Amino acid sequence: MSTDCRRPGRARQLRGLAAGTLAALLLVGGATARAAEPAYELHDSHFHLTNYIQEGPRIRRFLEIMGDRVGRVAIFGIPLQQTWSYENSGDFAPTYYLQTDAPLYYYSFTDAYIAKAYQSLTPAEQARFDPMITGFNPADMYAADHIRRVLETFPGVFTGIGEFTIHKEFVSSKVAGDTASLTDPALDRILDFAAETGLLVILHNDIDVPFAKVGAEPVYLTQMKALLKRHPKTNVIWAHVGLGRVVHPVQKDAAVGAAERPQNHMELVLSMLEDPELSHLYFDISWDEVAKYAIASPEATRRTASVINRFPDRTLFGTDEVAPPDQARYLRIYDMYEPVWKLLTPEAREKVLKGNYERLFDAARARVRAWEAANVRKEPR
Ligand SMILES: [Zn+2]
Repeated sequence: MSTDCRRPGRARQLRGLAAGTLAALLLVGGATARAAEPAYELHDSHFHLTNYIQEGPRIRRFLEIMGDRVGRVAIFGIPLQQTWSYENSGDFAPTYYLQTDAPLYYYSFTDAYIAKAYQSLTPAEQARFDPMITGFNPADMYAADHIRRVLETFPGVFTGIGEFTIHKEFVSSKVAGDTASLTDPALDRILDFAAETGLLVILHNDIDVPFAKVGAEPVYLTQMKALLKRHPKTNVIWAHVGLGRVVHPVQKDAAVGAAERPQNHMELVLSMLEDPELSHLYFDISWDEVAKYAIASPEATRRTASVINRFPDRTLFGTDEVAPPDQARYLRIYDMYEPVWKLLTPEAREKVLKGNYERLFDAARARVRAWEAANVRKEPR
């Protein structure tokens, strides 16, 4: 049972509050904005405006790409900058973490970049974005202080934190400095601060190591569940259902073929959704690397859809696109999921594509604005 099922009055109240704010903003924009709001197909809970070298489309160009199909977007950069090491790749300038052995480092300026892009928009345009703070090192006890400083510097902008990463194939070991860990008190400080402020969390954590052993318990599952249970007041969206490029769906035994593995994985997801101590946990099904598992076989698609139908409040759609050049590229993963969309109930489909985004992000927005009103001093620093 989800948190919101237990507190329907509160959820409705927050949703009403945010809807009121949105209506007020549209009024500011005048009659054209009010009349022009189209019936959007979806919201995107996971989007990177910039890539691993901090490049991407201008936010106004991205609004054109969203067009009248995508209503709202959780927007962030990428906290890790890929170093161009001349010693390593010479004149070849890497743009992705797999293109060089040179390290990645935390690039905190990304938060200022995203905030300034957001602030350049009109209020009606701003209402379509939920900027997220990502430029912190989760292995640093001072990370929570960075997040607080961003809220103090750019009040009225951010809704949450993430996508930030603890374990990720190839990436974790390339990060300069300490390795992030689910058992690090620095991460507990971050999640405590999110609970205090209402910041919604998008966390990337591979459930397992790459090319994991068949039948073994996923390496990071126990630590991840313990972390979530230590922070019952922090709403966490577990990005990509814990999967990745070479982090395959959990495979129970050797008799299970590759196409059936997503079913094993979804059983595990189901057990977490059923756990009353994890009612603050949500999943996003972003990334084409994840979509490929959900549509690997008719049975995998059916199983994925049945879990979503059973817990329609707990899954969000996101693209995980990085700096897309056009709408076709931006929405290719939405199209990939078509076989899953077809098997969802009308209620589940509406919630996964829009309703859950509105409920969670609107509630977080309202809470963070209230925290800022009470805690951010008005005079300049
Ligand atoms: Zn991502």
